[in-house]
Formats: sequence, C-alpha cells, structure tokens
Amino acid sequence: MISRLRLQAADVGMGMTSQRVRDRLIERLRSNGIDDERVLNVIRTVPRHQFVDEAFAMRAYEDTALPIGNGQTISQPWVVARMTAALLETGMPKRVLEIGTGSGYQAAILAALGIEVFTVERIGDLLRTARKRFRALGLHVRSKHDDGRIGWADEGPFDGIIVTAAAPALVDALSAQLASGGTLVAPVGSASEQSLLCLHKDADGHIEQRDLAPVVFVPLLSGLVDA
Ligand code: SAH
Repeated sequence: MISRLRLQAADVGMGMTSQRVRDRLIERLRSNGIDDERVLNVIRTVPRHQFVDEAFAMRAYEDTALPIGNGQTISQPWVVARMTAALLETGMPKRVLEIGTGSGYQAAILAALGIEVFTVERIGDLLRTARKRFRALGLHVRSKHDDGRIGWADEGPFDGIIVTAAAPALVDALSAQLASGGTLVAPVGSASEQSLLCLHKDADGHIEQRDLAPVVFVPLLSGLVDA
C-alpha cells in the first residue's frame, strides 16, 4: 500500500522533506509513547509537507498542529498517531469513517495503511484541496461535503470512526454507525480542552470507554460552508 504513494520528484533531496527530518519526528513520537510500528512507518512515509501551505512546509515535520486556512488546523502528528494506533488496537479495521477531512492528512494516513476510508468535511474549500492531494498521491479516499454529525449512514456500519473536531458530548448518530467489534475515537469536552475518548463496541453491542489523553481540537460545527 505504502509503496503506491507517489512522491513528487521535486521533494527528493530537499532539506525540509529529508529522511533525516522525518526520522527525527518518528523518534520524538516513539519517545512520547507511540509504539505501533505500522503507525510509525506510515507517518514516516506520508509526506505531511504536501498537506500544508508552502509557507508552513518547513515546519511540517515538527510535532505541532499548523494552520490550513478557513480557521482550521492540521492535527499535531502525535495526536494523529495516537488516534490511529487506537483504531488499530484490536486489529486492522477494513472500513473507517472520518469526520473532519481538513487537510486530508489523517485520511491519507489511514488510506496508506490499506484501510477503505470515508471522510466528511463541512467546508467545501478544504475538501476540494484535500481531494487534489489524495489524487496527487494516488490514494483512494471516498469523501463527502456534508455535516459530519449525521455520519454516512448509507455506507455504515464502520469498523472504525474517527472524529477530528471537538464536541461537548459524543454524537449518538455516529456511535450508532459503529459496527460490533468496532472502535470510535473522538475529542469530547469544552472549547478550550477535551479528552480524547476511545469507545469499543463488543460483539454484544456493549460499549467500553477509555480516556486516552487531554487534547485541543477545533470545534465540530453545524451546517455547510460553500455548499
Ligand atoms: N483530520 C484533519 C483535521 C482537521 S481540523 C486533518 O488531518 O487535517 C477539523 C476539521 O473538521 C475542519 O476542517 C472542520 O471544518 C471540520 N469540521 C468541523 N465540524 C464539522 C462537521 N460538523 N462536519 C464535517 N466536518 C467538520
């Protein structure tokens, strides 16, 4: 899967994208508790600098969130790694729904793992740019311009659901689209800080919930922009 990523020829040999810079990020993630080699490997491979504006490309391999326009951000690599590792904990999911496409980076990480990805974004402008990035990298990602709080019922249930925007409570419509045996990861809390919650639905439909880490996400909002 990963080898199918099309890296741009111009990137090769450029300092900001060099293997050494990426390896440094991987070491940092490792020292901050990320130990899933599948996740570390895919973060090493997917070119994060192609998911931010050129002005921020120099900082793409720092472990920090960066602006992506429209008042939104690409998540910090540690958060992407932690959420992805949580989704993979009970085995590789076949189909995952993401709410909040943003730059498309988290969706690209999942697609590069060989997962069938469905992603929903409310801001048309961001979604168009993300789609161009998926195409440029040869990644197959299904996407929709919609309010993600309703999920994607026609395609559910999903083995994994990842919400990359913060809400004061879990969204029932999304938990309902989680398959038995599936995992949902979502930031839940106030506007200024949230808990990264991980829900696992067992074969009987019972839900077990864990709190993975304190995080800060942009808010999950209603309605569409640029329909
Ligand atoms: N996963 C993204 C992170 C983007 S930030 C990445 O890897 O870059 C969160 C995104 O969620 C923003 O783009 C925001 O517009 C989007 N969002 C917020 N509320 C939403 C909703 N109700 N439905 C769909 N997308 C939403």
